[in-house]
Amino acid sequence: MTKTKIAVVGAGLIGLSTAVCISESIPGCRVTVIADRLSPNTTSDVAAGILIPHVYPDTPIHQQKQWFRETFDYLSEICNSSQVSEAGVHLISGWQVFKTIPEEKTPFWSDVVLGFRTMTEKEMKKFPQHKFGQAFTTFKCDCQPYLLWLKKRLKENGGHVHARKIEDMWELHSDYDIIVNCSGLGSRKLMHDREIYPIRGQVLKVHAPWIRHFIRDGDGLTYIYPGIRDVTLGGTRQKDDWNLSPDPNTSKGILSRCCALEPSLRAAQDIKVRVGLRPTRSAVRLQKEVLVRGGAKLPVIHNYGHGGGGFSVHQGTAREATQLIKECVAELEMSRHKPKL
Ligand code: FAD
Repeated sequence: MTKTKIAVVGAGLIGLSTAVCISESIPGCRVTVIADRLSPNTTSDVAAGILIPHVYPDTPIHQQKQWFRETFDYLSEICNSSQVSEAGVHLISGWQVFKTIPEEKTPFWSDVVLGFRTMTEKEMKKFPQHKFGQAFTTFKCDCQPYLLWLKKRLKENGGHVHARKIEDMWELHSDYDIIVNCSGLGSRKLMHDREIYPIRGQVLKVHAPWIRHFIRDGDGLTYIYPGIRDVTLGGTRQKDDWNLSPDPNTSKGILSRCCALEPSLRAAQDIKVRVGLRPTRSAVRLQKEVLVRGGAKLPVIHNYGHGGGGFSVHQGTAREATQLIKECVAELEMSRHKPKL
């Protein structure tokens, strides 16, 4: 039987998780991930990796909730397995606090995370500048170990990873049957998609092992997310800013905002600055497109534009993309077996 050859463009979180999902659910195919930047040099390496959804205004909420639930349940399985220490995934409890009482006190994802509840008056005493708060338990991925673990799983399933820049999807036409586009912000050039743009995020990674709870200001701009190796302090959201160089004044501002929420962070050590560009769209692009040139056709499955919430939904979107790829593989097999007249 001819093996279907699938190229996944992109080796960030979305490319690797989609490639693993394909290799585990579509038998008899060969999966190759191709990317110009590999871990630790992708946006996905910079992220805090916490599972708190970002809202995509043009994606139906029920779909976002399904993606989030599937991702949450998937990480829960990893956490209950012997894979957990290598994968760098852990449960984390903490607080989301608001300076003004939000209109929507129960977000759509409140019944997916564990133990969601309004904070008590006694808990709120820790945050004298805030009026309202929510406590819950969710997952966090330590991004670099998680990406490494995904890559290892892909290789164990027979997949490959190649470093290469793609200027035009047609470069892949002679070697692959199906292309999966997980190129994030790269789709602006590669697919001429003007709807995707960067939202710059600068964060600090610090050593502060006494911090065990997450704290997130309700507007999502200031946050403290402890991981296994370090604590991520954030952040910024700078629309259309492509600058990947850290700004020292911004770092000072982040540290001072985080210390206002958690004064013990003044003793944090080994401060490293990281910058990433969130690949933002009003809706994640998850669809099949058939490119046509001359008489040739090239099926492309898009899975990109996860903005500030890729970690929160990655397994859900990987499964939906894999379903589209399965349909494509079935069509290809039918055409291979069609009797030639
Ligand atoms: P990327 O990681 O950017 O990967 C894109 C890949 O495509 C790269 O390998 C690149 O080399 C490749 N590529 C692009 N163009 C080409 C080309 N022409 N040829 C070959 N390869 C190409 N999300 C959460 O859910 N929780 C969080 O706590 C969180 N925190 C964040 C904090 C910051 C500061 C930032 C910046 C983001 C955060 N995010 C968070 C968002 C999350 O990081 C992104 O949604 C996610 O990483 C997007 O993954 P991606 O694989 O689409 O993109």
